[in-house]
Amino acid sequence: MSSRNNPNRIKIHRSYTVMDVSETLGVHPKTVRNWIHAGLSVIDETRPLLIQGTDLKLYLKQKRKAYMHQCESNEMYCFKCKQPKAPGIQTLQFVAMPAGMAQMRARCDECGKRANKFVSWRDVNQIWTELGGKLPIAQKHLILRGQKPLNYPLSEVFDDEKNQY
Ligand SMILES: [Zn+2]
Repeated sequence: MSSRNNPNRIKIHRSYTVMDVSETLGVHPKTVRNWIHAGLSVIDETRPLLIQGTDLKLYLKQKRKAYMHQCESNEMYCFKCKQPKAPGIQTLQFVAMPAGMAQMRARCDECGKRANKFVSWRDVNQIWTELGGKLPIAQKHLILRGQKPLNYPLSEVFDDEKNQY
């Protein structure tokens, strides 16, 4: 395991500025800003931006899992087929997770085995449409569990869905 990007270096009870994260993890500040852009939570309305250690640690761990298998964004690694496969869109669900992430759950379109992976909420609409889904995503495909996904206009989604009936 590389020592760069190592979530174990992050203390969960402190807050970090972009520069703190950069120094602690040995990554470029631009990389940290990219993570924020990709869904890493920041504490609202503070300048400079502050990131909670607990959010950062979770984000890095989930990011590692997401890249464990090299799949296209709309594919999932099927442990039965032993390769990246398209998920069956009818079985697809996005479960809200902390730190702006979502767990993507589905069954393999070919063999039916369950698979899941972590994605950013920002990518949910794109993945859905790449798989042939129409927007807005129906509510049954989005599992919130009290989490408030960052930067995802869920109220619009749900309102649009209501408007269709
Ligand atoms: Zn399969």
